[in-house]
Amino acid sequence: MISVRLALVAHDAKKDELALFAERHRAVLGDCALFATGTTGLRIMERCPELTVTRLKSGPYGGDQQIGAMIAEGRIDMLIFFVDPLSPLPHDVDVKALMRVALVYDVPMALNRKTAEMVLATLEKQVQQ
Ligand code: PGA
Repeated sequence: MISVRLALVAHDAKKDELALFAERHRAVLGDCALFATGTTGLRIMERCPELTVTRLKSGPYGGDQQIGAMIAEGRIDMLIFFVDPLSPLPHDVDVKALMRVALVYDVPMALNRKTAEMVLATLEKQVQQ
């Protein structure tokens, strides 16, 4: 057990990619305490029923802010956030606030799949040791 508290968020155009990513890495994710915004969490659980995900509110309804608050309280160790750079978002200010608070607290933050792969590869090595 590596006991990393990992937050997962994906914008709509990126949800399939994150669900697939979760499936591919379900072994290491199963060792983490997982938190996700509402719809992202649902999609991950549909794809990987063996994973337990604590679902927060949907992003546009405050879920990003909830994750930001958890980071500020020291309750999240790592953020994987698959951002859609091509669509305007009604909750853009919340997205920016979440990224900002992750920077303030120096929480590792992967904003795309390749970075997330690298971050999880580090965790997977820790599990093997
Ligand atoms: P969702 O929220 O997982 O509930 O869609 C993510 C977001 O859009 O920030």
